[in-house]
Amino acid sequence: MSPQGQPVRQSRPSVDAGSAAYPSAGEERRGARTRPEKWLADRPWPDVGRPVVVLPLGSTEQHGPHLPLDTDTVIATAVACGLAERITADGTDSVVAPPMAYGASGEHEQFAGTVSLGRDALEFLLIEYGRSICRWAERLVIVNGHGGNVDALDRAVRRLVSEGRDAVWTPCLIADDDTQADDGPAPPTSPATEPATPDVTVPRVLDAHAGRLETSLMLHLAPERVLLDRAEAGNLQPLSEILPALRRGGVAAVAANGVLGDPHGASAAEGARLLDSMIDTAWRRTVARRAVARRADSSQRTGSTEVTHVGG
Ligand SMILES: [Zn+2]
Repeated sequence: MSPQGQPVRQSRPSVDAGSAAYPSAGEERRGARTRPEKWLADRPWPDVGRPVVVLPLGSTEQHGPHLPLDTDTVIATAVACGLAERITADGTDSVVAPPMAYGASGEHEQFAGTVSLGRDALEFLLIEYGRSICRWAERLVIVNGHGGNVDALDRAVRRLVSEGRDAVWTPCLIADDDTQADDGPAPPTSPATEPATPDVTVPRVLDAHAGRLETSLMLHLAPERVLLDRAEAGNLQPLSEILPALRRGGVAAVAANGVLGDPHGASAAEGARLLDSMIDTAWRRTVARRAVARRADSSQRTGSTEVTHVGG
């Protein structure tokens, strides 16, 4: 079934990830400002205050013949927007920082357009980023849209936390599944603090890269940038089976078109549900779980139980 012809824009939420480059508060800018901008970059410094800063961390890498290079960044930005809005609605000012559009994408470097910083550079970059932003921010929350970033991100956040800074990261995960918007390990969850799974109905999609999951999300967020007539299946084997070959030869060794999965059946409506689910997960893994940990901390007085690292 082709998703073409569906009313892809009808359910587009206010967490507009933007179809071009990155979102700005364009419409808000034109009128008198009545509330703080949700984009950090739009605030003059006296208006910055002490917000929770949500940083979208993406990548610039091939996403098959039908999706743009910044797919991970667009998705991470949309999740970050939804998370920041929920944090603000919960009573704490929160802003979205300019997205970080480069990550560790070495496995895609055989494909033109891919730009990878590598793990070491990304780790160092994130550490310095966190040190700088934690001078004035209440907290740093990093929303990661690319599985290849996980190792560097995990090390960087651990370092920031060990230095006494309030930093945390969360992947773009579906609430009732451990399927990610990109390949990469899913962080373990703690049964003691994880709330019950919300009632979210999303399909189990087993594609790891540029398949149905990411295609649906992009059809929802930036439909004009999805080239559906080029969409085609790639390698359909489970990631665990192709991982050795992938590690040796990169994605090109296992999928000539760069797709791990099958975009067939993707739709904007599915993308909208997936995005909502990812925002729920980000909320639970950062804010909600932290609140649970803080309550446990104050009642048990067992020292710091603040959940500053949700990635395992
Ligand atoms: Zn991706």
